[in-house]
Amino acid sequence: TDAEMKARLPKKVYNEVKACKLDKGSADIVAQAVRDWAIEKGATHFTHVFEPLTMLTAEKHDSFVSLPDEDGKVMMDFTGKELCESEPDGSSFPSGGIRDTSRARSYTSWDMTSPIYVKEDAIGTILCIPAAFCSYTGEALDAKTPLLRSMDAVSEQGVRLLRLLGNTTSTKLTAGVGPEQEYFIVDRDKYLQRDDLVFTGRTLFGAPAPKGQELDDQYFGVIPERVGSFMKELNEELWRFGITAKTQHNEVAPGQHEVAPIFSVTNVAADSNLLLMDTLKKVATRHGLVCLLHEKPFAGVNGSGKHNNWSLSTDDGINLFKPSKKPETDTRFQLVVGCVMKAVKKHALLLRTAASNPGNDHRLGANEAPPAIISIFLGDQIGGVVDQIIEKGYADSSIPAGMLDLGVKECPAVDKDPTDRNRTSPFAFTGNKFEFRMLGSSASVASPNVVLNTAVAEALAQFYKELEGTAPEDMETAVHELIKRAIRKHKKVIFNGNGYTDEWIKEAEERGLYNLVSTPDALPQFIADKNIELFTKHSVFTKEEIYSRYEILLENYVKTINIESKTLQEMLTKDFIPAVNGYAAEVAVNANEKKALIEGLATTAEESIVKELTEASNTLSAKVAELK
Ligand code: ADP
Ligand code: MG
Repeated sequence: TDAEMKARLPKKVYNEVKACKLDKGSADIVAQAVRDWAIEKGATHFTHVFEPLTMLTAEKHDSFVSLPDEDGKVMMDFTGKELCESEPDGSSFPSGGIRDTSRARSYTSWDMTSPIYVKEDAIGTILCIPAAFCSYTGEALDAKTPLLRSMDAVSEQGVRLLRLLGNTTSTKLTAGVGPEQEYFIVDRDKYLQRDDLVFTGRTLFGAPAPKGQELDDQYFGVIPERVGSFMKELNEELWRFGITAKTQHNEVAPGQHEVAPIFSVTNVAADSNLLLMDTLKKVATRHGLVCLLHEKPFAGVNGSGKHNNWSLSTDDGINLFKPSKKPETDTRFQLVVGCVMKAVKKHALLLRTAASNPGNDHRLGANEAPPAIISIFLGDQIGGVVDQIIEKGYADSSIPAGMLDLGVKECPAVDKDPTDRNRTSPFAFTGNKFEFRMLGSSASVASPNVVLNTAVAEALAQFYKELEGTAPEDMETAVHELIKRAIRKHKKVIFNGNGYTDEWIKEAEERGLYNLVSTPDALPQFIADKNIELFTKHSVFTKEEIYSRYEILLENYVKTINIESKTLQEMLTKDFIPAVNGYAAEVAVNANEKKALIEGLATTAEESIVKELTEASNTLSAKVAELK
């Protein structure tokens, strides 16, 4: 925590860490303070924790132990260099062709803006240092580096535009991200009986239970005792890490739940979400349970997503997405809405790509998650303001927030939001933030936020260009004209209706909005010329980095499908077909024995079972051969 740093570091060094400007001498001082703090907590090892392009966390532990001195005494050593960097053998991480296998060197570098923590489990206590990861030649091989670059881009462009609008106080603009995490909890012994769950994270076949989610009785229902004791330990673990676990509840499907922390700065939110996913799995195992983070573990009931709540705030506390009480006269807010509309409309396919993975292909557009079409929901209040701007060029009224009287004196009147929710929209305005609802439960939040930050940075840059050079006395008129132009130009991206209907799919097509239904459809967008231009212009990715990621994502898709295919073959060959044949044979033998006992006895039921199962077995065998 900040308090711990303040207490343990000289003021000058503390300020250097906060400013991310650390000289070598200061790095040693910080390292000693960090070491002492960690050893007090029982740490024996340290590690940089990074997110290579497997999109999972990676760590390599080193103990604090150093060579014994002349008296044979082992010192617990930790230098500034060890704090700031490490050089792991990177050859076995995906690099998407950036480097040949024989060239192994890569580096991690401490992210000074994401809190250091200690992790305590069966292996002992480990000091964990969040870090970025790059190749020997400096290309980013991780999720964090582009995320940090995109945060800089949006900050730079945002502050520049705010200055033009007369702001003199803000020096930084940061995105706050609050990821809501959905997951399934299942019994570990039963899980281990399912090769498909173990190898692919989802059931490849099976029959639904007689009772699913049709009674709507799970959502927010009483949390089962066994899951409750898991959640209690989960919260304690998360709070110990400094992750502000806040909200928990049962989700729609049986065995499905959600946890959400309080939002934080994007890179911290991304690191925390990875740690949260690791912790979900670890704590579940301790309770004889398994946490499934796959987007669609079971057919026939809802799958799991991750909602990326996202807002832009300045370092002096202005949330750009929070309208004033009268949004019809809030020029800055209207400009920001125009900016988000432009960014989302122009880079819809990139956002779609950022939500793509093989698991999420089972959800998007399948009547439980937003469709694969990107649109924005603004709600009645802001939508109303935008409609007026489209129609007459300005807005002069808006639906006020009000009180909702339940009509019973026993309950207090409710402070009502000016806008209802829309759970079918992939990109919904929720009062002071946007909720990007398309993401899959297993995904890192890094990619979508790289896209959001960069797309918005570009829109901000273009707005700046349009207003640059305007005389101060003309600025107000120029801003109004810009708002009008932007909102009118990008109005097609606004959709306030039900996104789950076929009518919307048709309408979206008429509007010229894209509907890329699968990961292979979406991924090529990543290397489209205009997106390469966008990312390189804002120094978020180099061209090589973009191509390497494209390679890795495609390869990951192909390999995932291949693992599913091999698992299917194995289960069919080893379990399924033998069981079908065995039962058919058992029924046949029984029928014959019955007939031998009572002459002329009809065994039509047995015969039809034997016939049906034998035919099924033949079909299965033929299909397995085909699949192979
Ligand atoms: P819902 O009711 O949509 O399920 P939750 O309460 O589960 O919402 O989660 C909402 C998330 O949004 C939380 O992580 C919360 O901290 C986050 N959040 C709240 N305000 C902001 C904001 N201004 N910017 C970003 N995230 C926010
Ligand atoms: Mg929620």
